[in-house]
Amino acid sequence: MNTDSETLTPCCAIARRIEVPDPRPLDGDGDVVGAAREADRRRRRLLDGVTDAHVHLWPDAIYRALWRWFDEHAWKIRFRANAEETVSALSASGVTRAVSLVYAHKPGIARSLNAFARQLGDAHAGLVPMATVSPEDSDALDIVREALGPMGLRGIKLHCHVQKTPIDDPRVIAILRECAAAGCPAVVHCGRAPASDAYGVDTHLICEHTRCERVLQEIPTLKLVVPHLGLDEFEPYLALVDRYEGLYLDTSMACAEYFEQRIDWRAIEQRSERVLYGTDFPIVPYEYDRELRVLARRIEDDRAFERIVRGTSAALWPT
Ligand SMILES: [Zn+2]
Repeated sequence: MNTDSETLTPCCAIARRIEVPDPRPLDGDGDVVGAAREADRRRRRLLDGVTDAHVHLWPDAIYRALWRWFDEHAWKIRFRANAEETVSALSASGVTRAVSLVYAHKPGIARSLNAFARQLGDAHAGLVPMATVSPEDSDALDIVREALGPMGLRGIKLHCHVQKTPIDDPRVIAILRECAAAGCPAVVHCGRAPASDAYGVDTHLICEHTRCERVLQEIPTLKLVVPHLGLDEFEPYLALVDRYEGLYLDTSMACAEYFEQRIDWRAIEQRSERVLYGTDFPIVPYEYDRELRVLARRIEDDRAFERIVRGTSAALWPT
C-alpha cells in the first residue's frame, strides 16, 4: 500500500479549487464569421449603450479584501480601482446602464452596504442600485423592507457560497418573498460554480438546481436572476427557464470564453428574453469588453443580441 499517496489524497473527496486559465486572445481563433459579425455590429454601434446587469461596486476596504482573496484562491483581478473609477471605466467602455451589486458576507453589515449602494445610485443616474442582506441578520426582513421601500433600492442580491446558505433555506425564502411582494427582482448566486473549498462550504451540496426550483415553485411571482447561466448546471437551468417564467439567467463570466465550459449559443439565443448581459466587472481576470465581444460574435440574430445586451434588463428594471 502506498501510504504516501494516501496522505496526499485529500481526506475530503470534494476538494475543489477554482480553475484559473490564462485568458486566451479572442482574435486569432480562426472564427472569421464571428469576427466579421462583431465588426459589423460595432459599425452599426450595437455595442454602444449597453446595460451590464452584473457589476460590483464596493467600499474601498471590501475591494481590498476581495483582491487579497482572489489573489490567493482564484484569478488575478485585472482592474483594481475604487467604485467611482469603476463607474468611469464602465462608461468609457460604452455601458450606459449598470446593475450594481453588493452582498453581505456576514450579519450586521447590510445596512451600511445598502447605504453605500444608495449613495452611488444617487450620484450616477445610469446605475440600478441593488440591496443586500445576510440571512443571519436577526432583523433581515426589516432590512429588506427598508431597502426596497424608503431607500428605493431596486432588488436584493444574495450569494449562496459566500453566505454559506442554500437558496431554499427558510430564511432566504422569507427574504425572497419580501422581494417579490415589493415587485423587485432578486439576483442570487445559487449555481454551484465556480466552486472552491476556500468558501468553507461544499457549494455542490448547497447549490443543486433542484433547490432553485423549489423556490420558484414556492414563490411564483418572484423574478429571480441566476448569474453565470447557472453554471455548472447549464442544461438544468435552461430547462428551469422553460418551466418557470420568473427565472432569468445572466451571462457573467459564463459567456466570456474564459472557463472551459461549452455554451450552447443557439439555446441562449432562443431564450434571449430571459438572458441578460452581465460581466461581474471588476472581479474578472480579463479586459472589460471580452464578454460583450464574444456575445457579438456568437449570437447570430440581431434582435436576440439586442435583448441580451439591453432589452431583458430594461424589462426587469424599467427606467
Ligand atoms: Zn458577481
